[in-house]
Amino acid sequence: MRGEKAGMVSPITDSIDIRPIGIVHSPQRDTSGMSLTGEQACIEVYPEYAQGLKRIEEHSYLWILSWFHQANRNTRETTPRKVNPDAPLYGVFGIRTPGRPNPIGLSLVKLDQVQGNKIIVQNLDAIDGSPVLDIKPYYDQDIIFSPRYPYIRPKQKELRREMMQKAALQHHQEECHDLLLALRMAIVAEEELGNLHSADLLVSVIGSPCLADTIQGLTRARIANPSRFFYRENDHMTLVSWKKENQELFLLPKSSSYTKEELRFLPNESLFQIELINGDH
Ligand SMILES: [Zn+2]
Repeated sequence: MRGEKAGMVSPITDSIDIRPIGIVHSPQRDTSGMSLTGEQACIEVYPEYAQGLKRIEEHSYLWILSWFHQANRNTRETTPRKVNPDAPLYGVFGIRTPGRPNPIGLSLVKLDQVQGNKIIVQNLDAIDGSPVLDIKPYYDQDIIFSPRYPYIRPKQKELRREMMQKAALQHHQEECHDLLLALRMAIVAEEELGNLHSADLLVSVIGSPCLADTIQGLTRARIANPSRFFYRENDHMTLVSWKKENQELFLLPKSSSYTKEELRFLPNESLFQIELINGDH
């Protein structure tokens, strides 16, 4: 072609040269034991790239791009087995399972500590020995508060709780009493009404700001556009109503001072006065 030097390599190639910038050190040595919410781990950045960590401690969250070195690269569609083996098949580009043509891992991690060329992070989805391809900062412009995505309900109750707890903590940022109360209420509501992120779920909260904030984080219900979240602050009373299709669920705590253990382990009926109303009105 005119203007192109003879023998010049085309910028569009079949392969790209990627060199790992570091490696994961983690007590988690195999993928079968890997938690869906990730693990605490150490990322060792190789000395020749360590300069790239300058001022990294100014960030609280980072994106980690890693390489799922044990993944099957021939996978084109699959089921998120760990979440729910009964879920339908999804194309690999609509799901985050490791098997995919380029098995790049994507983790949003909390940065705990920087020690020279090593960083300690939480919620990393990568086993021991995984190559790390890149580290990028997480900015608040990355946040879309209420995206649409398919609801794949975790089959195990314990996993549903674990994933909701992670979401609650990421949103509210402190594990206070009312976060744990909101979490337990959301678990009951999810059992009764299904997907809490559903566009037709309306939530009405009377209670503390911590309760309201956590429930908003767990439902992704906005005050407007569409209007799904209603809140009235009240220091003396807590009542949350969840309305979906023709059902409305009311949850009224029977006590205002449950312990952490009670909120975790007491049966629903011991914690809350529960009323589920079916009907057109
Ligand atoms: Zn709080």
